[in-house]
Amino acid sequence: MRGARRFCPGADNLMLHIENIQRKYRIGSVDIHALRDVSFTIEQGEFVAITGASGSGKSTLMHIMGLLDHADGGRYRLADQDTGKLSERERATYRSRFIGFVFQQFNLLPRASALENVSLPLIYNDHPDPMDPAALLDRVGLADRQRHTPAELSGGQQQRVAIARALVNRPPVLLADEPTGNLDSRSSAEIMDLLEGLHSEGLTVIIVTHDPEVAGRARRRIQLHDGMVVEDTSAQVPEPMATPPQSDGLRPWAARAQRRLYEGLLMCREAGRAMRANRVRTFLSMLGVLIGVAALIWIMGISRGAQTAVEERIAAMGANIMIVRPGRVEVRGVALGAGAVSRLTLDDVEAIRRIPGVLRAAPTVSGAQQVTARGRNWRTRVIGTTPAYAVMHRRHPSFGRFISEEDVRHRQRVAVLGTQVVRELFDGVNPVGETIRIERAAYTVVGILDDSGISFFGHDQNDQIIIPVTTAMWRLFGRRYIDAVEVEAVAQERFPQVEEDIRAALLRAHRIPGDQRDAFRFRNIAEIQKTIEETSRTMELMGIMLGVVSLLVGGIGIMNIMLVSVTERTREIGLRKAIGAKQGDLLVQFLIESTVVSLCGGVLGIVAGFYLAHAVGRWAQWVIHISPATVAVAFLFSACVGVVFGFSPARKAAKLDPIQALRYE
Ligand code: ADP
Ligand code: MG
Repeated sequence: MRGARRFCPGADNLMLHIENIQRKYRIGSVDIHALRDVSFTIEQGEFVAITGASGSGKSTLMHIMGLLDHADGGRYRLADQDTGKLSERERATYRSRFIGFVFQQFNLLPRASALENVSLPLIYNDHPDPMDPAALLDRVGLADRQRHTPAELSGGQQQRVAIARALVNRPPVLLADEPTGNLDSRSSAEIMDLLEGLHSEGLTVIIVTHDPEVAGRARRRIQLHDGMVVEDTSAQVPEPMATPPQSDGLRPWAARAQRRLYEGLLMCREAGRAMRANRVRTFLSMLGVLIGVAALIWIMGISRGAQTAVEERIAAMGANIMIVRPGRVEVRGVALGAGAVSRLTLDDVEAIRRIPGVLRAAPTVSGAQQVTARGRNWRTRVIGTTPAYAVMHRRHPSFGRFISEEDVRHRQRVAVLGTQVVRELFDGVNPVGETIRIERAAYTVVGILDDSGISFFGHDQNDQIIIPVTTAMWRLFGRRYIDAVEVEAVAQERFPQVEEDIRAALLRAHRIPGDQRDAFRFRNIAEIQKTIEETSRTMELMGIMLGVVSLLVGGIGIMNIMLVSVTERTREIGLRKAIGAKQGDLLVQFLIESTVVSLCGGVLGIVAGFYLAHAVGRWAQWVIHISPATVAVAFLFSACVGVVFGFSPARKAAKLDPIQALRYE
């Protein structure tokens, strides 16, 4: 489809009617009149050169004609529309529908291919039948340069790409501001050939130039001097062009939705391109979000695993155990020495064992001791107890035997060693039958305790030696009393009753008044379990707070980078506005960019947190549980960070003034 209809949208009269246009700039207190009083009419299908010395107001006039700038006075009618009455949004629509821009500095996106540059205006326009970008590149003679980026093209070729870009939405008017200003004379002639050809196909071409040779090829010349028209060669009015077929420019709902989707995809692709161009910077800016999300996932993953692990071990160790220790006795308000009256004895253990609800009871008396064997030294905890202890704590010897009732009765010097002690004193060689020395006295090793993974009431269960309680009391420590009684109840539900009964029995046996409830202290596993749960919940909360703080920091980082990016891309933003981008388009584009950055950070964070949690889980042998809900929340959170913190930079980009943006260096 060649000829006049090619570049015409659905408007009857496409003339540009300029009437007493004025434009002044205020520098300090001085007004500079860039345009004083300019009037002329350009009909559809004309080829006009606007000439004049530098500073005579050519660009200013061009920007007003292209709806990039407002006049301070006068009237400008475009296609029968008084443009002074248009809103900002309508101006953008008119711009993209009626006008194609070509600039002296080409203004191509540096990282996009020629084809992508030509396709760019399609994002911002709802034209029902845009030109095929590839065909347009062919038309400007660059069929074989589609995949080249601007850096891989000569100046003349870049300007041809820019012309193709200006034409993709079939605008009826092409405005070119010094299009040959940066080109050598041959490229310059080629560009003029191209513009002449387009003009002969029905395009209205308005070109600004100070080159007389270039101006000579136009059909009409308007010369400016100091913001006023000093010459207009509008002698011959061209024949009216055939009116093109009308199309209302509206598209069915589904097609529009499809178009929005396509735009979204294009914007995502551009976001990706912007991110790739600054890989290191982008990565650094997503680091905060990455760390925040990783911390969240990690903490959530391990805290539940840790808790389950602790609970399982406690259950395996005997969940029904409580410990009785001497407490504080006050006589008439005066505290007696700790435990002086309420010291526990072996008789107390017997009494406790007979209380209903008590399954077993074992005395303990312990202390840190220097132990030697085969000339080696090791400081460890020696515990005196009875055989019941092994049953209560499920600590059966893996080699040899535990201490027996017989040993207890005869105060035998026998010892059962924890695995850590075996490692330290015997290099892990089976020591059963060997002799160790505690306080210079010889003990025969009769067994090794099996490995127990965790500490119980704060002591490493593998770094200990167990000897008969009687031996410990009379022979080792020289005491007539024990430290504590460990009691196994038949069930946790019986703890309160058992505790009351034991307290009553002990108070009676020690002749302590019944109101001295603190004379004996009780601790049980259920309480410890609760403490552990509370601790892990606190940890979880702190982890979440760390994550949130880190996300905030990450968000600020993203905001910072986006502000830098908006500043860096000021010219690009101006260009986008010139080719029809509305404020909303730019807002969405930069929001997409910040959200893509934070989402990438989020996804990397999820992966990092996942691996971290599993690494810790493997090391500690915990079951790691990361729920889909946790992942979803982390994902949503990082998306929100992008939107919230990207908003102000995006708004800054959207609000930029197109002219100032285009002039930005
Ligand atoms: P030309 O394109 O013909 O070289 P311009 O239209 O760019 O001229 O500028 C016309 C006059 O307006 C010049 O004197 C210039 O200094 C002034 N001018 C242009 N833009 C601005 C601006 N943003 N602020 C102040 N003065 C400006
Ligand atoms: Mg200029």
